[in-house]
Formats: sequence, C-alpha cells, structure tokens
Amino acid sequence: MHGKQAMAIQLVWFKRDLRISDHAPLHFAALSGPCVGLYVYEPDLIEAEDSDAAHLNFVNQSLVELRNNLRRLGGELLLRTGQVPDVFEQLDQQFGLARIWAHEETFNDLSYQRDRRVRAWAKSRGIPFKEIPQYGVVRRLKDRDGWSKQCAARMQQPIHATPQRLHVPQSLTQIPAGEIQTADRFNVRSFERTEVQPGGEQNAFDCLESFLGSRGVNYRADMSSPLTGEAGCSRLSPFIAYGNISMRTIHQRTRHRVAELKEQKKSGEAIEPTWLRSLSSFRSRLSWHCHFMQKMEDEPSIEFQNFNRAYDGLRESEFNRDYFDAWCAGRTGYPMVDACMRALHQTGWINFRMRAMLVSFASYHLWLHWREPAIYLARLFLDYEPGIHYSQIQMQAGVTGINTVRIYSPIKQVVDQDPQGVFIRRYLRELTDVPDKHLAEPHKMNSMEQTLFRCQIGTDYPPPIVDHKTRYKAARDRMHQLKKLPDTRKASEQVYQKHGSRKSPMSRR
Ligand SMILES: Cc1cc2nc3c(=O)[nH]c(=O)nc-3n(C[C@H](O)[C@H](O)[C@H](O)COP(=O)(O)OP(=O)(O)OC[C@H]3O[C@@H](n4cnc5c(N)ncnc54)[C@H](O)[C@@H]3O)c2cc1C
Repeated sequence: MHGKQAMAIQLVWFKRDLRISDHAPLHFAALSGPCVGLYVYEPDLIEAEDSDAAHLNFVNQSLVELRNNLRRLGGELLLRTGQVPDVFEQLDQQFGLARIWAHEETFNDLSYQRDRRVRAWAKSRGIPFKEIPQYGVVRRLKDRDGWSKQCAARMQQPIHATPQRLHVPQSLTQIPAGEIQTADRFNVRSFERTEVQPGGEQNAFDCLESFLGSRGVNYRADMSSPLTGEAGCSRLSPFIAYGNISMRTIHQRTRHRVAELKEQKKSGEAIEPTWLRSLSSFRSRLSWHCHFMQKMEDEPSIEFQNFNRAYDGLRESEFNRDYFDAWCAGRTGYPMVDACMRALHQTGWINFRMRAMLVSFASYHLWLHWREPAIYLARLFLDYEPGIHYSQIQMQAGVTGINTVRIYSPIKQVVDQDPQGVFIRRYLRELTDVPDKHLAEPHKMNSMEQTLFRCQIGTDYPPPIVDHKTRYKAARDRMHQLKKLPDTRKASEQVYQKHGSRKSPMSRR
C-alpha cells in the first residue's frame, strides 16, 4: 500500500481510443494531477467469437506507438492482462486511484457488461469514473429527432490539446510497466493474411493526409469498385475503429480542405472538378458512421436479434451449412463473390458495395440467416465495428423493414465493377487465362474453352452452388410478401421511429 493516500493518481483507461491527439480523458486527467495510462488485454474480448488475431496485432502496433508517445511526454502506459475491475483493484491497492478517465464505448455485449461491472466496482470503492463521449453517439437518447444536430455539434467542438508534459508519481516507476501481449498468449483465432494495414496514430494521420491531399479526388467514382476503391476510398476505417485518430479530427480536417479548395477555385486556380463532390460524398459517409453506431447504443440486442421482430423465423430453420462453408471459403462459383471473400482473407478490407454484395448473396441467394455470416465477417474485417456492422448486415439481409430490399446480382457486379477482370484474376488464380467475356459466368464455357483457358469447371473452379435467376426471384417474392403484411408494416414503423434517419425516404413520406 506504499504511498496510496499520499500519491493518488489519475488513471487514463485506453480502450478503442489508442492515440494522444484529441484525447479528452488524457487531456483532463493531465490537468487534474499526476496521471498514468493503462491498457488492459481482456481475454474475454480477445478470445470472443467475433475477434481475430489481426485485431490484436493492430492494437499492439498502436500500443507500441502510444507508449512511446506517452513516454516522450514524461508519462507511462501500463499494460495489464485480466478482468478490468481486478486490474483497477490492484492498481488502487498499489497507488490509490483518485479518478478513472475513459471514453464512452459502444462496442459489443461483452464490453457493455464489462462497463457495468467497472461502474459498479468504482461506485463501491468511491472512485469517480468519468466517461467522455468520443463520437456523435448520445447516451440515453430519448428521440432520434434532432440527433444529427447534436452529433454535428460534437464534431465541431475544439480539438482537445495534447498535454505538453505528463507527471508520473515516483512510486509508479517501481512497478513493471507490463509487456505487449501477442496473439500466441491467447486462445484467439487467426486467418492467414498477407497484406494488412498497419495500425498506429502516425499511420492514421498519414492516411488521412494522403486521402485529402490526392487519393480522394475521384472518391465518388472510385468507391464502388473493389479495384479503384482500394486507393480511392479513405481506408480510415481501422484507424477509426481503434481510435488512432478522432472522428472530430477527420471532420475538421475535411472541412478545412473543402474550404481550401473553394478558396482556390474562387481565386481562379485550377482544381480538379471532381474534388468538391467527392469530399461532399465523403462527409456524408463520415456522418453515417455515428448514425449507425447510435443504433447499437440505443438497441444493443441488434447484435443477436432482428431489428424488426416481424422478420423472426424468416431464415432460421433453413441454414444450409454447405452453402455457408462455400461462401466462407470463396468457392461459390460466382467469381465476384469468391474474389471478394478471398481478398478479405488476405487483406482484411473490401469496399462498401462488395461488403453489401457478399451479405446480399449470403442472405438472398443462399438464404442464410445473417448471424453466422456476420460473425465470420467480423473476424475478417480489420475495421470490425459492431454498431456499423450489425446494422449494415441486417440492412443488407432485409430484416430492418425500413430499408429498400436490395438484391445484388453477382454477375452484373463483374461487368460493372471489374470488366477487365483485374481484381478477379488477382484473387482467383484459377481464372488467370479465362477471357473477360467469361469471367462473370465461367461455368458457361464449353469443354473446349475450359481446356483452352486452363480452367476445368468442377475441378479448378466450382460450378455455381445455386442458380442466380431462380434464387433471386424466389428471395424477392418472399421478401415482398412479408414486407406487405400489416404486422410487418407496424413493426417497421416502430423501427423507423427509434432508428430511422430523418433524411430517409420513409420520413419524407
Ligand atoms: C455488411 C457491411 C458490414 C460493414 N461493417 C463495417 C464494420 O464492421 N466497420 C466499419 O467501419 N464499416 C463497416 N461497413 C461500412 C463500410 O463498408 C466501411 O466503413 C468502409 O468500406 C470502410 O472503408 P473506408 O474507411 O475506406 O471508407 P470510406 O468510404 O472512405 O468512408 C470513410 C468512413 O466513413 C464511415 N462509413 C463509410 N461508409 C459507411 C457506411 N455505409 N456505414 C457507416 N459508416 C460508413 C466509416 O467510418 C469509414 O471509415 C460495413 C458495410 C457493410 C455493407
């Protein structure tokens, strides 16, 4: 108990906010007295079904930089493993905790339950636990009307200054700071990956600068194709998910860039005509981030159950495991679906449209309930963010009742988004010699063509596991029938009241 009362410290609990810039808890803790940072490796979360070793690697890359940055300021980042209240208890015994500072978090059910335990523990010890919002997500929101104004106001608040100097009590230097814990220390699952984005605050800022400076010029046109989207999308999502950069910083730098471009245009300087429209589209998408996160905050059960309970029972009893396995492995016989899945295995990222297509194919063509595909994709996506993920998955699976049912044709997506087959051939080596005209439906090649182009259907590449046209029509009819029922419509109205965008067609109606 050395020095406990004499040297109570401000504890900054880092979670999915691994940065020092615009970090409100760090800012206020440093103003309040001697402080120290803490990151807790939580086996419950790391070993959960929606977690993957790639997530942990990204966290570790971020932690190395965060610790260096804090040390540069004279501070320290403690690394501990275990249940958070136990770690707090131990630190309180060692130093006495004056206050715990953290960002509000809207993640999954495990973190939600964890936060309840942390709050109960802090209350029982009489230690103030201060949580500060980091996104536009509003806790205990009463009504969606007016929410977007609150969100926008948050994004316009001034950036919190990074402390110039941190004061760490002497007693802290006598205990081990703790080591980085790699994936092999946990029972965490792992995909083999080759080209994943590395984490960290500097990488996040570099990524934003390169996007606003040059890559984003054709964002609006580039974003739909998995090929052009690779460099044409911002690629900020993992940095946002792990808080390597604040949403406020992204909003404000984008606004600044727009003002700069407008100024250049006004003064007669030549600017690329696509810039302003591209950045306008980008800003809309940034707002969607918090719009979707708010849904999870308001209704955490969407991680497990349909937004719209009138859709319960739609697919539950028909789960075809062979279909699911083929979809997971990228062996459905539809090249765009398979190439996207295999790209995800290697890189952990794919653009929005292709994510939507993957879920649409699983939901409509294969008629799989969304929950298992959602978990599989959660592990694959480096940027896994439950608030966006489950909302989007349910939207693409057609079970919200407030969104248009959109069934993507995996054949048309080849023609529209990868007509020269560059993306498909990169990930489906077995189709290397198949000419462009056969790339959407290679099974239509006759046996002579299969020999000529070195791709035997059924041996090198599978035939389609389902027929597009018949599955498309059957799914569309089932969805439309259900959507029309009075009970479904009533439930949809309730979903809209609670979660709907006030800019959506339903509200205009
Ligand atoms: C089925 C499905 C699951 C998804 N799961 C996730 C997820 O787990 N994590 C995640 O960050 N995004 C998810 N998205 C949304 C979107 O696909 C990704 O945010 C985007 O592709 C990330 O790439 P980017 O950063 O280059 O995006 P950009 O196009 O450059 O957009 C910039 C940022 O805006 C936000 N954004 C963009 N599109 C959306 C959207 N449709 N909804 C909400 N926010 C958006 C993200 O924070 C993104 O990083 C999902 C989409 C679908 C269809």
